[in-house]
Amino acid sequence: MGEAKRRGTPQQRAEQARAKIEALRPAQLVCGHCKTTFSEFDALDVPGLRGIDAVFGGQCPSCGNDVVVFKGEPNAVAEAMIAWEKMLGADAQLGYQSSDGRHVPFEPGGEAEGGDSSPKPGGTVH
Ligand SMILES: [Zn+2]
Repeated sequence: MGEAKRRGTPQQRAEQARAKIEALRPAQLVCGHCKTTFSEFDALDVPGLRGIDAVFGGQCPSCGNDVVVFKGEPNAVAEAMIAWEKMLGADAQLGYQSSDGRHVPFEPGGEAEGGDSSPKPGGTVH
């Protein structure tokens, strides 16, 4: 991870972006379902998520649960998780890694489906 101050080629920029993501990569993911920790997972390319620096995901080797971890601003992480959950359906177990490396399961708190009045966690964005 050198400090490349000179103008980089597109390739160098891509490498820097990858290095940034690798720096955010947690040592391991924790399955929100069975609490198994595992370290075989990938950085996911999820464009268009504002405030999200990186997304990591893998499959729990124990129960097969998909585990996805978002890195970024807390509000953005919360919104991304809600969007992700709607995409995957109710079976998805979501969580995030807190800054001290602890896994925090994400619980939407029983919000009702089909309304635009879903609670925005942690205050208003926009
Ligand atoms: Zn599991």
